[in-house]
Amino acid sequence: MASTIDDSNLPKTHKACVYDKPGSCSIAIRHVETPEPGPGEVLVRLTHSGVCHSDYGIMMNTWAHLPAPTEEGQVGGHEGVGFVAKLGDGSERAGVKVGDRVGIKWVSAACLACPPCLEGMDGVCFNQKISGYFTPGTFQQYAIGPANYVTPVPDSLPGDLAAPMLCAGVTTYAALKKSGANSGHWVVIAGAGGGLGTVAVSLGAKAMGYRVIGIDTLSKKDVILDSGAEHFIDVMAYDDDGIANRVRELTGHGAKAVIVCTQSNEAYGQALGMLGFGGIVVCVGMPEGDPKPIARSYPAAMVAKQSSIVGSAVGNRREAAEVLDFATRGLVKFPVKTVGMDELQSVFEGMAKGEIRGRVVLDLSK
Ligand SMILES: [Zn+2]
Ligand SMILES: [Zn+2]
Repeated sequence: MASTIDDSNLPKTHKACVYDKPGSCSIAIRHVETPEPGPGEVLVRLTHSGVCHSDYGIMMNTWAHLPAPTEEGQVGGHEGVGFVAKLGDGSERAGVKVGDRVGIKWVSAACLACPPCLEGMDGVCFNQKISGYFTPGTFQQYAIGPANYVTPVPDSLPGDLAAPMLCAGVTTYAALKKSGANSGHWVVIAGAGGGLGTVAVSLGAKAMGYRVIGIDTLSKKDVILDSGAEHFIDVMAYDDDGIANRVRELTGHGAKAVIVCTQSNEAYGQALGMLGFGGIVVCVGMPEGDPKPIARSYPAAMVAKQSSIVGSAVGNRREAAEVLDFATRGLVKFPVKTVGMDELQSVFEGMAKGEIRGRVVLDLSK
């Protein structure tokens, strides 16, 4: 049976930003065919999409662990917010209706049957589909998502604030939860001025009650303090031991956790030295290029200080709902710049130079 929805207003084609020369920083604006949702799928009319550093990695083919190079014509993006425009057959059984506000995130589809899914960790599903790599992503006006896996988005949260919650928000929230920190604990955010970092600082300080130290380059100082950090440390002003000493000086005994939000192997190498007793390093930022082990992970020191290193990738469906709730209540404040679709290439160019503060969001109506 066909969809029960009047789709007379749906276009045949729509505007999309595509990777026209994967491996280089190049975006073409094209009109692509608006797809029909298949059984169990919904078509989402997207209003906003955040731009994440992972999109840049996929465009540039710098993520060594992905199974194949990115194809020409791929539409990137994985922080999409919009409204359900059409239901595929059987989709109503997932409880979604036309007009519902939903989001599409990094894991655009999960199998809900593999070992991580059965543990409630669908964000690391072994059979996941990555939006903007395996499936056409959210840098376009319409995209398909599974009816049972799109994320409900509160109506009162503006689209440009909602979109970054679907990757940066859920990723940093899940990482902060994994840190084992309680309110009042010291938490260091490495790479605190970037797209993940500012959200992590804000969530940690305002929503979760941590005492936050942000580390980054001097040009990011104001944005880090404005996002809620109690202290800023200029990464360039210290060597590796010096930066750890500075954290111990500020905290007394070292931090409860260090959340590494940057792609820098050096930042990972500095992190263990900042921890106090029983502290945890949470790995979030994905280093590009040849994989390297975390420097200075000396077993004797880790045994003596009972340190741990854990990995954290995005988050599950419940964490996505929780972080959207924090944002709706005004507890996640970070800089957002909203631009039109034709500015995506220059956003990526700025990202490559480390010039982006906070999050850039595409307004997909422009
Ligand atoms: Zn992302
Ligand atoms: Zn799974």
